[in-house]
Parts: sequence; C-alpha cells; structure tokens
Amino acid sequence: MSSLSSAEKPLVQNVSLDGVAGAKTKAKSPRRKRIAETRHNALRHAGSHLINPTLPPPVEDDEDKAWKRLLHESIETPEEVSEKWGEDVETMRALEKEFNIRINPYYASLIQEKDDPIYKQVVPSKYELIKGCCVDDPLNEERDSPVPSITHRYPDRVLFLVAHECAVYCRFCTRKRKVSDSSKISLKHLEAGINYIREHKEVRDVVLSGGDPLTLSDRRIEYILKSLREIPHVEIIRIGTKIPCVLPQRVTKKLVNIIKKYHPVYVNTHFNHPRELTPEAKQACERLADAGVPVGNQCVLLKGVNDDVETMRALMKGLLKMRVRPYYIYQADIVKGTEHFRTRVEKGLEIIQGLRGHISGLAIPHFVIDSPGGGGKIPLLPHYIEKMDDKEVVMRNFKGERYVYPQVQENIEPTLKTLEEIAKANGFQLGAEIQDYF
Ligand code: SF4
Repeated sequence: MSSLSSAEKPLVQNVSLDGVAGAKTKAKSPRRKRIAETRHNALRHAGSHLINPTLPPPVEDDEDKAWKRLLHESIETPEEVSEKWGEDVETMRALEKEFNIRINPYYASLIQEKDDPIYKQVVPSKYELIKGCCVDDPLNEERDSPVPSITHRYPDRVLFLVAHECAVYCRFCTRKRKVSDSSKISLKHLEAGINYIREHKEVRDVVLSGGDPLTLSDRRIEYILKSLREIPHVEIIRIGTKIPCVLPQRVTKKLVNIIKKYHPVYVNTHFNHPRELTPEAKQACERLADAGVPVGNQCVLLKGVNDDVETMRALMKGLLKMRVRPYYIYQADIVKGTEHFRTRVEKGLEIIQGLRGHISGLAIPHFVIDSPGGGGKIPLLPHYIEKMDDKEVVMRNFKGERYVYPQVQENIEPTLKTLEEIAKANGFQLGAEIQDYF
C-alpha cells in the first residue's frame, strides 16, 4: 500500500553503532542536537560493550532494507510538517521542543486529509499547548523504578524499557517525557535491567517496552530475549510494540524467526483506528501468529480518533480477523500536552455497552483507567446490575431487558418441592428465561 519502490528512492542503510535503526541526520534544533550527542556518546561509551566485535556484520535482505528505508525517510522537522500540511512553522517548532516529531512514509500514507483520525495521532497540534490538569509522569513510573529502565510495581511483573526510539511519535504518548530521548532510556541500562531481573526471583513476567523494542536491530532484540530466557524464573516475555500498526514492514521473516526461539513470547500491539488495519498490518500480525506468538491489542480512547461506537466496533472486528485479540481500551492518561485527546469516562462505558452483545465476546476488550499516581489498572463496566442482595441479582442485558439470577442458598436439603414452590417460600422471583429452561 505504501511501500516505496526501489526505483523511486535510493536505498539508504542507516544503522548506528549497535545496529539500532535510526532516522536520517537533519538540521538540528538545540534539543535535537543535545539528544543526538547524548545518543552518540551512550552508544560509543556504554552500549558498545554489548556487541561482540568478532561477530560478522549482520546481513541485510530486501525486507530489512525496506523498513530501514521507510524509517529513514520519516518526516521529522517542523519545516517538513509545515511544507506538507500547511501547519504554522513557529507553532510546530514550539511543539517539537516538547516532543520530537516522527511520521514515517508508511503511516503518513494512511492520512487521507488534514485532521483525520490518522493525522491527529502523529501531527503536532496547537492544542498541545493547553495547560490542563495533565502532568509529565501520570502513572508515577519513576517512583517504582529501582534501577533505570525498570518499573517494578506489581509483585511478579516488571516493565523493562529497552529502546528510546519509535517508528512514529504519537502525540498522545504516555511516556513522552522519555521516549525519543536516549539520555532517558539508554542502552547502558540494559545490563543493569537484566541483572535486576536475574536477582529478583519473584519476577516471572517481563514486559519489554520503551520507546518501541522492535525499532532495535535483530541482533539487539535477540540479545535481550536470549538473556531473559536464560533466567530460570522468567516464565513469560511480553513485547509492547506499535510496529505492526505503524511500520508493519519491520516484522520481517528474520525477526519472527528470532522471536519464536524464545517462547513463550507474547506481543501486545496498539491499533487505534480501523483505517490502520491494512494488508501490510495484516501480514505482520499473521506472521507473528504463525510463529506461535499470541497477539493482543491495547488501544487508547482518543477524542476525534476513535470515540464512537461504530469506529470501535469496526476496529475490534477487524482485529479479530487479523488474529489479534482486543485486550484493553485505555481511558487516555493525563499526560501533559494531551488534554485535547481526553474524553469523558462515560464515553468509554458507552462504547463497551455498544460492543457487548453486538459483536463476538472475543472481540470485547477490558475498558480500564490506569489510575493517576500509579495505582495500576482499574477495570470499568457499564451498570448491568440493578440490585444484588442475598436472594437475587437483578440485571439488564445488552438490550436493556431485565433478568433475575437467584443467589445460591446455603444448607439446602434435597426436596420434592418444585422450583416455583421454593422460590415462593424464599420470596424471590424467577426470571422468565430460567422458568422456561426448567
Ligand atoms: S509508539 Fe508507543 S511509546 Fe512510541 S510514541 Fe507511540 S505511544 Fe509512545
């Protein structure tokens, strides 16, 4: 759909010191320059010891060249955004200081018009300047960070930030305080993170995130997976990645062959809109599924992007067809600069109500708020229960019809009485369907 033919563009191999795919060098703002310098130093002085100099350089095939070329040709400067979409360049410059810009040509090709749901996710908006109640670190991840790059909040799980880059930079990103900045998520912390996990025997589930772990080189990904798999108490490895949605070409045959060596590996990806469900995305998800990787989707409820029932139904149904299981819909976090993406919580409840009963239960995710301050995910459900006491639960189904479920009664002796007689004696009503059943 979006891949550029090799005849159209020169192939550019842009692999940094450790094989991390990076974007092209452009005229740099002071912030970009600082980030680039830090990144360069981090790679030279810290990350390079992880590379075995005796290994031959990785061999690139056509699939590798294709995704690296797409990443290399990303729109990354205020001037490019202004030129392509007519946005005010000064505003873009101000916003770029807050959070880097990256829109790769594949994802840009999904934009049909200015301000459409794809555009809003990646093109900076003046509304990012709104000062609401939002903060830098809404989930308080830093508080639960025993070593840099690790967040250890739940007893048996850790979040391990292994990459600072992404294939696009989403304007609503929860971790924009760190993402795209190698001084905040650094390769030099990789071994400290692995050592922490090795020393903490209670950790059985590791979630790799960042940035996007699949922007790393194959060699680096294999190093991380292998190191974790060698730790006996690590049972599950999960990769949080938006790659199948925003740069599906990165899911190469070589990559899935690496991943499948270290099972059980799960992937949670991040599609927000049905227009992202392209043939390329389908192929990426199916390659992972064919390699035995269960793929789930975590989407974020975003105003003007997916905050209506029809869009969410199309998204969830389309994901299932691609063998991706809808897992979560997140209420948008209160991240600085993202006030304009937030919806009222009732909107999410309305969407769940509009999904349940109308589409397959397999396609219905949990609607959760990742509680501000770091309390973890809290699931929210529409009000299906009208009343619940010792005798019965009175509920409404997805059509709003009322049903009664009798509570279990303690110490019931066998009896020849009919169900109706028992109900009458105990003072509860039987729902029509239950009576029909009996
Ligand atoms: S891909 Fe994920 S981590 Fe990267 S900018 Fe988007 S939301 Fe943030």
